Amino acid sequence: MPTAQTASNEGLIINGERTNASDAGTFEVFDPSTGKLLARVAKATTADVKRAIAAAHAALESKSWGGLTPADRGRILHRMALAIREHAEELADLESRDTGKPVRQARTDVQVAARYFEFYAGAADKIMGHTIPLGPGFLDFTVREPIGVSAQIVPWNYPIQIGSRGVAPALAAGCTVILKPSSEAPMTALRLAEIALKSGLPNGVLNVVPGTGAEAGIALASDPDINQLTFTGSVEVGVAVAKLAAENVVPVVMELGGKSPNIVFADADLELAAQGVANAIFQNAGQTCSAGSRLLVQNEAHGILVERLVHRATNMRLGPGVTDPDMGPIISKRQLEAIEGYVEVGKLEGAIVVAGGERPKDPTLGEGYYFKPTLLDRVSPGMRVAQEEIFGPVLSIITFDEVDDAAALANLSVFGLLAGVWTRDINKALALASGIKAGQVYVNTYGAAGGVELPFGGYKKSGYGREKGLEALASYTQVKNVCIRFSQA
Ligand code: NAD
Repeated sequence: MPTAQTASNEGLIINGERTNASDAGTFEVFDPSTGKLLARVAKATTADVKRAIAAAHAALESKSWGGLTPADRGRILHRMALAIREHAEELADLESRDTGKPVRQARTDVQVAARYFEFYAGAADKIMGHTIPLGPGFLDFTVREPIGVSAQIVPWNYPIQIGSRGVAPALAAGCTVILKPSSEAPMTALRLAEIALKSGLPNGVLNVVPGTGAEAGIALASDPDINQLTFTGSVEVGVAVAKLAAENVVPVVMELGGKSPNIVFADADLELAAQGVANAIFQNAGQTCSAGSRLLVQNEAHGILVERLVHRATNMRLGPGVTDPDMGPIISKRQLEAIEGYVEVGKLEGAIVVAGGERPKDPTLGEGYYFKPTLLDRVSPGMRVAQEEIFGPVLSIITFDEVDDAAALANLSVFGLLAGVWTRDINKALALASGIKAGQVYVNTYGAAGGVELPFGGYKKSGYGREKGLEALASYTQVKNVCIRFSQA
């Protein structure tokens, strides 16, 4: 594993072995805090992906995995959770270098990853069917069988969390997995698989094929031998991936983008709301699918809330993730430029920059891809900065007057991932919770630690299918109905 000074060489993990790509190709991974080389990683080819799928099928049929009791599967997952905790500091350091996120956040991500394995370890032997009453002479029951080989394509923003979010329930259900991390941040997915092997996960149950979307991603999504696909990423790529899977009638879970609102009423605890709103947009430098990137604030509270947000935004310390700043860099130069472009669009549309809006001028930040925490005020709902996912530390502030306006404004989006409601009035809270079209609604909070136990997924273009919680197991199982007619003589 790399240290701050040396770049490491990383292989693919197929059938329990570290291996080079079939054509010996590699790609480079950079530390976004410094722009320096972090690692050279084997770049999976289509042939490698096919090898990984074959290994996953063999493991599925093997005694050492397919033949295990659910309780034994659960024990292995439990050992994985413990091993992740034992390696927590090393994993957090690696995640911080690979993504640029503050090491404190990376530590949380690692604990959440461990929690996924712990949670689903306990669920492995509780995946039950039903008996269905058909009347005298019949016994009818259902069983939930593993769906088979699960292909999982994940983004760069929360690699270990999102990787574990899909892998843990799939393994609990008895599936095997091919995980394709993003080429921007593949490091902890590889380490996770190594830890899994040391914890007793049999060869071929979890394979990791880092590579590009254009080759490894397409090869995985279009392969007729996968049985299920979980995709987490942008809408554009998600649509392309879903079309490929549809050709083979492979079911998909789509976890896509968002433009989630935080709705603050004048009767809210405004200090609590300011803290929640700031954290929801600036965590991971806004590179979070569930970022609270729209603030819908009741006119009476606008002045005081914006003042508090400006105070928070302008006092945030930026720096390399491993120095544990308040906010780290953006993942790449390309993403940084995209964010800058959006701020310019917002200004042209008439938004007012009340904090940030530019790269920091601090020379100590060197070649890192930093952008200041940014507040765009006087945004109107139709503007591009109110509609499109910026995926950076940029909050678009919109005002409203009436309770009914708030729900309508919240729903004025092609997305529907999360929403936060801040009020002391339970009636308003419940009216909004019912009126908002989103997969999760939070009241006087935004997120609940890792939220491992809570079903998570999108309405509208934020996707379909649910991850997290017991709900996720549905995606990794298929229901078989067995109907028996018997004689009652
Ligand atoms: P992306 O869509 O560019 O890439 C996601 C993954 O897909 C990567 O592994 C990439 O290599 C792969 N990929 C790219 N092109 C592909 C293709 N043609 N075929 C198959 N695979 C391909 O997304 P990103 O930039 O890595 O991440 C940011 C996006 O992810 C944002 O839109 C964000 O909202 C979304 N996201 C959603 C969730 C969620 O749970 N809903 C979580 C995190 C991120």
